[in-house]
Amino acid sequence: MNQVALITGASRGIGRGIALELAAAGFDLVINFAANQEAADETAKLCTERAAAADHTIRAKVCQADVGQAAHRERLIGFTRESLGRLDLLVNNAGITSIGRADLLDATEKNWDALMAINLKGPFFLSQLAARWMVEQFEADASRKAKIINISSVSAHAVSSNRGDYCVAKAGLGMVTRLFAARLADHGINVYEVCPGVIASDMTAPVREKYDKLIADGMAPIRRWGEPGDVGKAVVALAHDYFPFTTGEVFNVDGGFNVRKL
Ligand code: NAP
Repeated sequence: MNQVALITGASRGIGRGIALELAAAGFDLVINFAANQEAADETAKLCTERAAAADHTIRAKVCQADVGQAAHRERLIGFTRESLGRLDLLVNNAGITSIGRADLLDATEKNWDALMAINLKGPFFLSQLAARWMVEQFEADASRKAKIINISSVSAHAVSSNRGDYCVAKAGLGMVTRLFAARLADHGINVYEVCPGVIASDMTAPVREKYDKLIADGMAPIRRWGEPGDVGKAVVALAHDYFPFTTGEVFNVDGGFNVRKL
């Protein structure tokens, strides 16, 4: 029986990249989206094809849910139970950028609340729901070692003064990772954080020129845009249990952005 992965925000961008790599590794998938049904269906189709090309037969299900809303999160977990019957991996990927990218001195509470609901509250409470189920699975069968992976960002530690809410949410997600790692280790569940650098997606399309220049100027040692598949490959490495004695840890997928130079 295939393992099952639930990926939030998998209709486009990094989430789709993660779904494709997990499909190639033979995972059954729940592809969550917020509004873009057509893109989510396309992800499911591409995943089935990608799996077949790697000699796997997978099931790829699509489920609309706004991770910022409690009833939607419940429905998403319920859908996963009913359609695929197990959960081995939750990837908290869904996220939005700072609405309006306002300077710190102009940022509004309304936009802060909207972003926090999706980028921080969503992953926290979806992890809670998923973890209760994963604990049940482990109690029934101690060989079932589920995982949670949070997609954070270099913005968890690099300051952007026109995206304060986004940076704070990603920094908070780091604590969510460590909290759940500490709470769930006795239940065989490891929790990881993947921090992408600048990745080509709809989120970064509006600031493409700015990053083209920064990348060319050596912002990071590896002078190229990251691709969603770069993040997907990191997630597959973690999902494959090659880090059984590691939890609560950060994996940077950022072209070496953290390397300081003189
Ligand atoms: P994207 O291209 O804008 O895609 C966002 C995805 O999230 C879409 O699938 C979207 O669904 C979904 N989504 C948005 N709001 C949602 C909600 N309330 N509930 C459920 N799904 C929702 O973004 P991306 O660049 O792939 O980013 C994905 C994650 O990586 C985010 O957490 C982001 O912060 C993080 N990240 C991105 C970069 C980067 O450079 N791109 C770097 C570091 C970290 P619909 O298609 O239905 O709208």
